[in-house]
Amino acid sequence: MSETIFTKIINKEIPADIVYEDDLCLAFRDINQQAPVHILIIPKKAIPKLNDAGVADQELLGHLMLVAYEVADKEGVADAFRLVLNNGAGVGQEIFHIHFHLLAGRSFTWPPG
Ligand code: 5GP
Repeated sequence: MSETIFTKIINKEIPADIVYEDDLCLAFRDINQQAPVHILIIPKKAIPKLNDAGVADQELLGHLMLVAYEVADKEGVADAFRLVLNNGAGVGQEIFHIHFHLLAGRSFTWPPG
């Protein structure tokens, strides 16, 4: 099992502004907000990146997306939010524990930078 700072957040060894939690996942505000709403949705299972997920994780990954929507709804941004998953250091992944960024509350460009 990979140990990252997110494992410490899951285990409540370091604080985080948690907005949602269930048996499978956790959602908390990013420490370095890139938008008025910037929340990370992570599984409790420590999967380093999407490449490392398998068929057995299919339901878990779907669950994360539905939780992302639920959190967006609670934050009042269900009509306009972006979900980002960085897979690999080459696209900016810094924490190797799979996570979705839920970003909302400002305008976003496309294609992303
Ligand atoms: P990545 O670049 O891996 O896709 O995103 C990692 C995210 O985790 C970054 O946006 C970064 O600001 C956030 N982050 C890193 N360390 C912490 C922390 O200790 N607490 C919280 N809440 N977010 C963190």
